[in-house]
Amino acid sequence: MAQTFDFKPQVDFLSFDGGVKARGALVKPSQSALRELSDIEEKILSGKKARITSGAGLSFGAPHFGDDIVSIDNSRFSEIIDYDSENGLLEVQAGATMAHVFNFLVEKERYLVTQPGYPSITVGGCIAVDVHGKNQLRDGNFREQVQSLKLFHPSRGIISASADINKEIFDLTCGGYGLTGHIISAKIRTRSLVSPTMALYIVPLDNILDTPAYITKAAKENDFVVSWHDFSARGAAFGRGFLLVGKFVAGPEIKPKRAEGALHLPLHWTLNAQSRKGLDLAFYSLPFNRLINVLYGGINRFSTEARLITVQECLYPARTLRQLYYKMFGQAGFHESQMIVPLDRFAEFTEALKNWLDRNELAVTLASAKVFMGTQSLLRFDGDGICFALNFPRCEASGRFMLFLDQLTIDLGLTPYMVKDSRLPLAVVKKAYPQYDEFKERLRKFDRERLYRSELSRRLEL
Ligand SMILES: Cc1cc2nc3c(=O)[nH]c(=O)nc-3n(C[C@H](O)[C@H](O)[C@H](O)COP(=O)(O)OP(=O)(O)OC[C@H]3O[C@@H](n4cnc5c(N)ncnc54)[C@H](O)[C@@H]3O)c2cc1C
Repeated sequence: MAQTFDFKPQVDFLSFDGGVKARGALVKPSQSALRELSDIEEKILSGKKARITSGAGLSFGAPHFGDDIVSIDNSRFSEIIDYDSENGLLEVQAGATMAHVFNFLVEKERYLVTQPGYPSITVGGCIAVDVHGKNQLRDGNFREQVQSLKLFHPSRGIISASADINKEIFDLTCGGYGLTGHIISAKIRTRSLVSPTMALYIVPLDNILDTPAYITKAAKENDFVVSWHDFSARGAAFGRGFLLVGKFVAGPEIKPKRAEGALHLPLHWTLNAQSRKGLDLAFYSLPFNRLINVLYGGINRFSTEARLITVQECLYPARTLRQLYYKMFGQAGFHESQMIVPLDRFAEFTEALKNWLDRNELAVTLASAKVFMGTQSLLRFDGDGICFALNFPRCEASGRFMLFLDQLTIDLGLTPYMVKDSRLPLAVVKKAYPQYDEFKERLRKFDRERLYRSELSRRLEL
């Protein structure tokens, strides 16, 4: 039988945030996931080599590659397998992207309620990281939309798993960072799309301490809510900003001003780790950041009229601008720190950030929050509280800021998102994830040879 997969024995990988480089191998099956995975096993991996599945490679850190690890690129397996219209259940191959799923469902006036903000992210990546979407408080994490999945592991063959069948494996795989095996396909729940149009309005936040109450109320009553804060302002203005609140609205006269021509999304998207680092120069500095924040914050905070946007603009906001935003960090890259802050520690958290940023010169290019409700278990990014995301350029000051955030995470009992911080130390993960040892033990029980590995699994000794 002729070989149908591409194999590159030496590839230099880079994480999306620019923080991790590694030299591994890349194999890209192309025709039939099942047949070729066995073939790859026999010809490349010989049953022993460390391997990891990769989706679109859009994790900020490196859970999908590592030194001397074979990354198995799953992106060619993007078929819609079946759609059960009675129950709104969609069966897809795990390499299907958010755009594939969106295009299929929108014609049926349905959508995937929990999804990350970029169209080329894959279903496999969403399951393995248990990502969150636009209203975690109402909809939960991605695993809550997964009815069942099929997993390939060379020592175990194909396993069907769900909350009822092979629950242990399902539990370990959703938010298991690809360490249990290769997800082939999944059946996912979809929701009725009330309207392809969303009304978006602004709620100004003059005091950052108002965020928990306002954002929680808005999340309970609306479809989408996220906050934006100015962390370059000083004194009492520190952290002022606004909530961006969205609700689907229907009616024949309701049409977005700037409706995208086509209902469907393009399937090809250019943002990835290589394209992100395209610019030689890093543009962000504190004065530049202040100027942008005054303009952006000013325009938004005082806009009183609701804006109509398309569902595409809501699910995957500012796609072109976002590409530029990430590119402007230049070759050195950036850090993202995203953590869940318990409500009763929110004031201490913001005060600590304010004090540190008062004393140090660092451009925080993004400070944004969502509200979370859930139970944290194993290594999943879940729990109750305010989920805060911070971006800043990779530089000497930001290295110190990350160490400060590590200590704050331990002191205030925060939960950091592993997939966003490519250097998160083991000591912090052990403190922040009480079931770290249990995950490790259960993973070893499931896969004695520990075949699936990555930079993340090595750093975290999984
Ligand atoms: C612009 C942008 C916006 C984002 N927005 C959000 C957001 O709103 N919420 C959020 O939670 N995250 C968000 N993310 C992070 C992103 O959703 C996750 O990192 C996601 O896992 C990336 O999926 P991927 O297809 O790129 O997978 P990769 O990055 O390639 O892999 C991620 C993990 O999934 C595993 N994996 C992938 N496919 C499979 C498979 N078939 N079988 C087994 N394991 C597999 C890999 O081994 C790895 O551990 C965002 C990222 C970007 C770049």
